[in-house]
Amino acid sequence: MRFLKKKPDQFDFNLERTCLTCESKFQGRYCNRCGEKVIEAYDRSLKHFFDNLLNAFTFIDGKFLNSFKTMLLKPGKMSADIAIGKRQPYMKPVAFFFVGNFIYFFFPMFNTFNSTLYAQLHYMEYSELIQPFFQEYLQEASMDYIDFEEKYNVTSTNWAKILLILIVPIAFPLLFLINYSKKLFVSDHIIFTFELTSYILFVPTILLSFLVVLIQRIAEVLGFDTSRFDFDAYALPIVAILIGYMLFFGLKRFYQFKWWRVCISSAALLASLTIVIYCYRFLLFVITMWSLK
Ligand SMILES: [Zn+2]
Repeated sequence: MRFLKKKPDQFDFNLERTCLTCESKFQGRYCNRCGEKVIEAYDRSLKHFFDNLLNAFTFIDGKFLNSFKTMLLKPGKMSADIAIGKRQPYMKPVAFFFVGNFIYFFFPMFNTFNSTLYAQLHYMEYSELIQPFFQEYLQEASMDYIDFEEKYNVTSTNWAKILLILIVPIAFPLLFLINYSKKLFVSDHIIFTFELTSYILFVPTILLSFLVVLIQRIAEVLGFDTSRFDFDAYALPIVAILIGYMLFFGLKRFYQFKWWRVCISSAALLASLTIVIYCYRFLLFVITMWSLK
């Protein structure tokens, strides 16, 4: 792993330079008037090009790990720092979310963000509402239910990964209304929405599913019969506790509400996340049906 470590910086920060773009005088790596970067021989070398490429693929570059660690151990701190302008230690909130999305792309173990055609037509709040439309759709397409179901489930799984970003705009108005505070800008609420949705993706989705698979493997190696163990039965309370932890401490740290307000806001948000998931699944249904036309 040594080649992934950062090399000591030999840049001369005290030398006075003239900006090649705007001709103003400055010290340091960036022009303090137009932001132009000083380019040295190393920056133009092929080695630098490959170093950069490697960084883009490994995420070892401290920012990802730092964002992840801060989100996990001090929820709300990353958003608060980014909002006031302390941005260098962290990945950009959108990029951080997409790393989670990228990992989820390859290991979609949980069905939180996907649902089968059967579940869509029977287990959702809106199931009764969409059934007549669905019947009409099948008749028009003159398709057999069994054939269609198979096609639907494959297509829906693919869309579910691509549409994941939609949970951000769906969750945002709820967050904004429940945590409205005069002291903050709308963009601050958006930053916190990204941290919350990234957390939901990384912790109760990706991390938890890895943990469940790991425990199952260990139990199998030790000779326990895991076939009768149904994790889904325990999933909901565990997920609620994990998200509750993030909301409780995250809202306290980011919004600096009094404790009573933190309690009300986190309870309201936790409850309203069900609405977010339902809206997301409904959109997923509509888009999947549309794409199969
Ligand atoms: Zn300049």
